[in-house]
Order: sequence, then structure tokens, then C-alpha cells
Amino acid sequence: MTAQEQQDEYADIRDAVAKLCAQFPGEYWRKLDREMAYPSAFVDALTQAGYLSVLIPEEYGGAGLKLSAAAAILEEIQRAGCNGGGCHAQMYTMGTLLRHGSDEQKAKWLPKIASGELRLQAFGVTEPTSGTDTSSLKTFARRDGHDGYIVNGQKIWTSRAEYSDLMILLARTTPKEQAAKRTDGLSVFIVDMKAAKGNGLSISPIRTMMNHSTTEVFFTDMKVPAENLIGEEGKGFRYILSGMNAERILIASECVGDAKWFIAKASAYAKERARFSHLFSPIMLGAMADGDGRFLLTLVEEIEPRRRIVGRTE
Ligand SMILES: Cc1cc2nc3c(=O)[nH]c(=O)nc-3n(C[C@H](O)[C@H](O)[C@H](O)COP(=O)(O)OP(=O)(O)OC[C@H]3O[C@@H](n4cnc5c(N)ncnc54)[C@H](O)[C@@H]3O)c2cc1C
Repeated sequence: MTAQEQQDEYADIRDAVAKLCAQFPGEYWRKLDREMAYPSAFVDALTQAGYLSVLIPEEYGGAGLKLSAAAAILEEIQRAGCNGGGCHAQMYTMGTLLRHGSDEQKAKWLPKIASGELRLQAFGVTEPTSGTDTSSLKTFARRDGHDGYIVNGQKIWTSRAEYSDLMILLARTTPKEQAAKRTDGLSVFIVDMKAAKGNGLSISPIRTMMNHSTTEVFFTDMKVPAENLIGEEGKGFRYILSGMNAERILIASECVGDAKWFIAKASAYAKERARFSHLFSPIMLGAMADGDGRFLLTLVEEIEPRRRIVGRTE
């Protein structure tokens, strides 16, 4: 399928997303930014329209669409000047549960995530002393009899943790020195954050330059039932990577949408902005060899190949 065909395949979805986004203009986002507030109304609207559950199979209440459909939705959100960063994780973190969770876990959580009753927005991997070096993370989940695990440690840059009901958590269950491979001995859990808050889980927001609702998360003897372990104990690194692959593709599609939005804004500005008795746009078009005109044209030329790379995904 060509990129054009793929774009057309989702034309209806793109139109509908654009209409929804039109209800959330720049002033809405600027106000949130000033107040460092979470875009609850926007996230609720996306949830009710079913966009955050497009990747969840129909049997669990989602639309059962391909990753390229989710990419089209996020691209369109950013193209409209909105921000999917408040909720995009729900699309890809869910994949860890969908691909590696048990039938019972999927039946328990996925319908509630699809309906919006529960938000799965938090993804706890990064720690202060381990970012890209994931296998060195220190948060430890110790098996406590047959009931479950006791978790101790800390995460950082955990986006949206204050606004999520569930977290996909990566923790060590075997010390790195005792694991056969450095990527062994890590396990994934689904944490019921509502139950854990005040019972071993605390969240501390971090003030950042951009409004991304990011936090530090602390675990102090937090209990996680054994039934919340996803897949096999010790195999979590592989499960997390499969979710991250989707994350990279979806965030790349947001970047394509951002590029389209910025170019539309810049070209509109150039058409109305006059200096020295001239509009900017003819000056920019006439000055293709250098300066801003060249930059803008380069951006336009670069978008489509990038969109094609993102759109090639299934
Ligand atoms: C907007 C945003 C949202 C995020 N949300 C989440 C979230 O929800 N959950 C979560 O778990 N994390 C989140 N993160 C954290 C993100 O995943 C980490 O920032 C990322 O894994 C990199 O880790 P780090 O910042 O510790 O960088 P580092 O690991 O310190 O790496 C910094 C740079 O150094 C390079 N590098 C690393 N090791 C070496 C070496 N030995 N020699 C040379 N170069 C090296 C890396 O490639 C990288 O370019 C978020 C980050 C951002 C920016």
C-alpha cells in the first residue's frame, strides 16, 4: 500500500479527529500551560470518541485497528495544534498487557481501559541512576510468600502518574549479579495505583519547562499481588521493549503532525507579516537559497518521506 493510499485509508478518522480537536483551540492549551494543568477535558473527549482504545481488540471493547491507525490519530492531533502527550501512553503501554498478559488479566483490565473507566497512562521504567541503561535499574520486587511482591525503589520522569489509575512497572526480581544475562531478572507488573497510593506509593510532580505532567514515583514496601505479574517472572525486559517499539512509532507520527502544524503556522504568518513595505512570503520564496525561506522549504520537503516511514508500520 502506498503512503497516499494509507493516508486515504484513514481519511474518515483523520477528519473526525480534526473536528474533535477544533473544540480545543490554542487558548485551551495556553491556559493549561500557564497552570501546568492536565488536559482532562481533551483526554476525556478522546476516550469517549474511542480514539485511545483503537489498538485494543474488539472482544475487549476496543476498535481492534492496526498501529498505523493509531499513528494517524496522533499525527492528526498534533497537526491540529493539540497535544497527545497527555494520553498517548495509553495506546502503547496497553500493548505490553495485550501481548504478554494472561487471559484473566486481559479480561480484567482491557475492557475498563477501553471504556475509559480506568486510565493506563503511567509507565515506570526510568530511574535516577538508569535511563537508557535499563538493565541497571534498582527498583526491586521481592517475592513475599505466595501472595505477591513487596516493591521498593524509585522512578523518575514518570509522565502522567498523577492522572493514571494503572502503571506498567518494570522492576528487578533477581539481582543483576545473579542473573544469567544483564537483561534477565527484570519483571513487569501492572500496578493498581489507586489502591497503592498512600500504601507504599507516593508521587511527587517535577516542574519542567514544558507541561508534560511528569513526576518522581517512590515505592516503599508497596504490595503488588502475584496475579499482577505480567508474563513470566524475569522476562520483563523483552515485554517492555515490545511496548517501546510501538511508542517510538507513535511518537514519531506525533512529530510528523507537529512539523505540519509548525509549517502551517509559519507560512500563515509569512503571508500576513509585512516589513519594509513587503510581505514576508514573496521574500522567503525569493530567497530560497538561504535564510528562513530555505529552512521552511526544507521542512516541507522532509515531511513526506518521514511520514512514509512512520506510515509503513502495521
Ligand atoms: C518527555 C519525556 C517523557 C518521558 N516519560 C517517561 C515515562 O513516562 N516513563 C519513563 O520510565 N521514562 C520517561 N522518560 C524518560 C526517558 O525514557 C529517559 O530520559 C531515557 O530513557 C533516557 O534516559 P536518561 O535521561 O537517564 O539519559 P541517559 O541514559 O543518561 O542518556 C543520555 C544520553 O547519553 C547517551 N549515552 C548513554 N550511555 C552512554 C555512554 N556510556 N557513552 C556515551 N553516551 C551514552 C544516550 O544515548 C543519550 O543520548 C521521559 C523522557 C522525556 C524526555
